[in-house]
Amino acid sequence: MAEFRIAIIGAGPAGYFAAQALQSAEIDGKKFAIDMIEKLPTPWGLVRSGVAPDHPKIKSVSKVFEKIATQEGFRLIGNVELGRDISLKELEEMYDGVIIATGSTVGRKLGIPGEELANSISAADFVPWYNAHPEYKNLEVDFSDQVAVVIGAGNVAIDVARMLALNPKELDLTDTAQYALDKLHNSAIREVHLFGRRGAEHAAFTSPELRELPKLEYTDVFIDEGEISAAQQRASSAGEIPKDIKANLEAMAAIATADKKGVDRKLSLHFLSTPLEIKGEGRVEEIIFSLNEVKDGQVVPTGKTKSIKCGLVISAIGYRCLEMPGLIYESGKIKNTDGRIGASNTYVVGWAKRGPSGVIGTNKSDSSEVIKLLISNLTTPKNSQDILEILSSRNITYISQKGWEQINNAEISAGEALGKPRVKITDLQEMLGFAG
Ligand SMILES: Cc1cc2nc3c(=O)[nH]c(=O)nc-3n(C[C@H](O)[C@H](O)[C@H](O)COP(=O)(O)OP(=O)(O)OC[C@H]3O[C@@H](n4cnc5c(N)ncnc54)[C@H](O)[C@@H]3O)c2cc1C
Repeated sequence: MAEFRIAIIGAGPAGYFAAQALQSAEIDGKKFAIDMIEKLPTPWGLVRSGVAPDHPKIKSVSKVFEKIATQEGFRLIGNVELGRDISLKELEEMYDGVIIATGSTVGRKLGIPGEELANSISAADFVPWYNAHPEYKNLEVDFSDQVAVVIGAGNVAIDVARMLALNPKELDLTDTAQYALDKLHNSAIREVHLFGRRGAEHAAFTSPELRELPKLEYTDVFIDEGEISAAQQRASSAGEIPKDIKANLEAMAAIATADKKGVDRKLSLHFLSTPLEIKGEGRVEEIIFSLNEVKDGQVVPTGKTKSIKCGLVISAIGYRCLEMPGLIYESGKIKNTDGRIGASNTYVVGWAKRGPSGVIGTNKSDSSEVIKLLISNLTTPKNSQDILEILSSRNITYISQKGWEQINNAEISAGEALGKPRVKITDLQEMLGFAG
């Protein structure tokens, strides 16, 4: 019997962990042949274009990905986009199993008047901009006002607020896009306000992200102490406080009571505030919030409002999938049952399956479960055309693992000269040049 051939679409954590699960399995003594198809010339998904540049340790998971990529039977096929260069139907005909791991890339909308004003930006665009994603490098963002507002109470909101509030010299030795670093060095922003709709006890932050805030060297971080003790009371009145909420509230109480440095850069966290409207003549000038309270466990408006004059609003309230033809979507995710799409041999993993939740490691167990299901549904291997022949017949330049390694080496050596982990290339032609 020939080997089974599996296509994985998307070279982010979920895709690599799916490949890893396949690599540790075999059928009748035969390993799987794995083709990982990625739309960019560079792999690693959000580990490259999402994780904050000042969190380099988290990016070291890429070493695991590179180990997976150099196993026998694995091919990276970069610069090839599902839906543009090849269709799902074609892949389903060619492979014994198809795994969609394309993530969740579109920012959810606030749905309020003024959201379309200039300098009202989604974190889904802002984050890849500072992380040198080629599709976002031309984003227009203006840092000329002293005050910026971030909406959301999750780790992405904290990342964005921290990136705006820290002293950019703390980013000089990171892989932040050079154009973003230049802009941040000239930024007039000195006050960043983060707003969550519900109470502090409902925030989706994780406590390590909170605990690092008071350690920022050039920024004072503020939370109203009364707001946290009220949240603690509300949480404990409902019984024993769950461990993660307790840790979050303790981290927030530590921020509230920490000595302040008296520096001019300030980051403030606020809760129980729903954005109602962004105002301005052509661009963001002010944002209005409804103030909420918690009554019988429900978040309800108090009828009071609050206005903040600001020049930039970034919303970080979640992501949904970019829709591709041939797939059904439900609540921003690809419709599936335990990862399987309908009765086909096409599966979905990662954020495209679960939505934007969990840390990088969450994708490992998730992908592994879906691979078990995929394997259980395999019958006889197909003997069909190699995708590389189809790509060549369409004059599509794809990037192999070797080509990516050449891009990777070029970025790392450009970084070495400057004491940075890498200098990311943002120009597609330049990437293709390095990939040979
Ligand atoms: C701003 C931000 C910061 C984060 N920080 C952390 C952190 O510090 N620690 C942590 O543990 N987790 C963090 N996460 C969460 C983590 O990044 C996700 O859990 C993880 O990346 C999800 O993996 P994925 O493979 O599903 O999606 P992704 O990482 O998004 O990968 C999807 C891949 O598919 C490719 N793709 C998309 N469409 C196509 C197509 N049509 N054809 C071919 N390829 C395609 C994309 O280019 C991408 O490479 C963060 C997330 C965000 C948004």
